[in-house]
Amino acid sequence: MDKLTWIKPTFGYIPGHFSLDSRDRTIAFDRLISIGDSASLQSPLIFTGFGSLVRNLPRLTDLLDTALKHDLLRAHNLNQIRAYQSNIAVTWLFSRGMMVPTGKHLPPQRVNSMLNTFFGILAAEDPDTAEAFIKDRFGWLPLNRMALKAALTNPILLLWIWVVVGPQDFWRWLSSYWSFTVDAFGNALLRTWFPQFVRWLQPWLEDRFPQVWLGLLAHSYAVTYSLGQARVEQVLKPQAASAPVAVK
Ligand SMILES: Cc1cc2nc3c(=O)[nH]c(=O)nc-3n(C[C@H](O)[C@H](O)[C@H](O)COP(=O)(O)OP(=O)(O)OC[C@H]3O[C@@H](n4cnc5c(N)ncnc54)[C@H](O)[C@@H]3O)c2cc1C
Repeated sequence: MDKLTWIKPTFGYIPGHFSLDSRDRTIAFDRLISIGDSASLQSPLIFTGFGSLVRNLPRLTDLLDTALKHDLLRAHNLNQIRAYQSNIAVTWLFSRGMMVPTGKHLPPQRVNSMLNTFFGILAAEDPDTAEAFIKDRFGWLPLNRMALKAALTNPILLLWIWVVVGPQDFWRWLSSYWSFTVDAFGNALLRTWFPQFVRWLQPWLEDRFPQVWLGLLAHSYAVTYSLGQARVEQVLKPQAASAPVAVK
């Protein structure tokens, strides 16, 4: 290190946002919708935005196609089209616990120690669990099991997170945890029959009540996508090329 010559340190700011639940931020206005990083459902600091966007493309494209087909382009309709996953949202406490609050100084090795604990636990898991975690597909039980394991492996972690996060944000996080728990319960209860039931209603419902259909379809997708279980229900056909127009 002492052979290095420090010329210019470079810093960057990355805007961070943590979703508390599926409705806590507006991502659309009339005829305008944000998708991907611009929707900023999560802090870009997690660096998994591209994977998240790709995994959510089937639901986003189907919902967007439905909205366009029925001209449902008002803000309240478009706001339902989002790549929100409650299993990712609930992890904000861990990212927040690693952020150094403005004006405070934390021992630099603390963040490393937290990361070492989390990744050490992940490395000890079987490859399927670790892969599900890395690909944002983990469920309620694995997350709780690993969080408990982290607390038992390195109990001081809890105090470190508490010192940085404080009681107010901890209460806010409990509401995210509650949403995740409700979504996990809904997933267990509904995922085997509800999406098929919604599709069964489609021929009768879609043209009569398009707005209700869009809402129901968004809820149906959320049953599995909120826990990162992607599903492809519609394959959009490319538009037939329009006939060439003769120009005089
Ligand atoms: C260092 C780093 C590492 C990352 N690693 C990973 C990773 O390993 N895995 C992963 O899944 N994700 C990763 N990500 C995140 C990923 O890159 C983003 O989530 C993803 O690119 C978001 O895609 P997007 O289309 O929403 O936005 P962008 O890719 O940012 O595309 C937006 C585009 O709009 C353009 N634009 C902006 N303003 C205007 C304007 N006014 N007019 C016209 N054009 C405009 C921009 O130039 C840009 O081309 C990483 C990000 C960073 C910064």
